[in-house]
Amino acid sequence: MVHTNCPSCDSEHIESFFTIKNAPIYSIVTVKSKEEALAVPRKDIELGFCHDCGFIFNRLFDTTINYFTGGYEDQQGFSNTFMNYLTGISEELIEKYDLKGKTALEIGCGKGDFINLLTELTGGKGIGIDPAYVEGRQNNPNLKFYKEFYAKRHGSLPADIICCRHTLEHIHGTEEFLRLLRSSLGNKTESVVFFEIPQIKRILEIPAFWDIYYEHCTYFSPGSLARVFRKTGFEILDLKLVYDDQYVLIEAKPSLTRSHRKFEIEESVEDLKELVDIFTVKITEQLDGWRQKLKALKKAGKKTVVWGGGSKSVGFLTNFADLELIEYVVDINPHMEGNFIPGIGKMYVQPNFLTDYQPDAVIIMNGIYKEEITKTLNEMGVYPEIYAL
Ligand SMILES: [Zn+2]
Repeated sequence: MVHTNCPSCDSEHIESFFTIKNAPIYSIVTVKSKEEALAVPRKDIELGFCHDCGFIFNRLFDTTINYFTGGYEDQQGFSNTFMNYLTGISEELIEKYDLKGKTALEIGCGKGDFINLLTELTGGKGIGIDPAYVEGRQNNPNLKFYKEFYAKRHGSLPADIICCRHTLEHIHGTEEFLRLLRSSLGNKTESVVFFEIPQIKRILEIPAFWDIYYEHCTYFSPGSLARVFRKTGFEILDLKLVYDDQYVLIEAKPSLTRSHRKFEIEESVEDLKELVDIFTVKITEQLDGWRQKLKALKKAGKKTVVWGGGSKSVGFLTNFADLELIEYVVDINPHMEGNFIPGIGKMYVQPNFLTDYQPDAVIIMNGIYKEEITKTLNEMGVYPEIYAL
């Protein structure tokens, strides 16, 4: 099944520019054995670029896969760097939109960590909506969870801000989803809507192939995101890049007339097309460079581990699984311990595993954690060569 039309603007003017063969369809699902991990189905990714709105998406994405019945682990709150970031954006939202004592709603709340944090900071109430919420993970009496997909009826819940973090990149029908959200809000033009998602410009520029994996079918840039928000009936209040330019944040409110307010960081479709063209040249070089580096480590007999589980490690290792260099992937999330990486079959270990293992090299899956991880390693008496993506 090939998606011929753009999910964000319905255009048929789509150009395919990058393919990954046999990508595991899961990256954060919890898998308890090596056999099960290696048996995870694989499918191809074909990134398409829309010449009309600049949206980038996996043209081969299988929309029939149910990602929410199996368990998954995606909590990031075990890192100080991440918690500082999350607290920072929450405080900014509270200040900017006067949210003290108010009610926040989160679509795709996962285990509820963010809505819990935000609610603690507002001192008000919180509502989380996610079919994959696990009962009992949060014990805050001010929180209420709905274990279901967001639907039109949820628009009547009393929410002063509606947050949606790291969810839209998993949704294929982007325009359809935003129209659902907009229609659920009706005339509630005072509701603030806040989305946070990875942004494709950085992926194209670096190029960060590890940020392309099957579970992400949707790749927005500031420009393509802003265009679909305006198109579906929102007025954008703020648009910015954060977290080392890895994420784009958009704040908007429902508007009754078509908004034309634009922001400086919105690149044009032509700008994005240029980045896509540069990516197609640079990506081969980037993949070859890493392959040579990993081969050299293997040849020198160096024990190498990856630090940082979840999707980036799947995105990274999918390309080099044949080298059989890496045996372990470290993750600080205690719920991941003993699990295996989907499609890759390597086991997750806790950081303290490295005290005995004494790796010669550590490849960090997100450079933003380099300082924090290096410090942790050194405190354990581990001094490996460090590589960071
Ligand atoms: Zn489009």
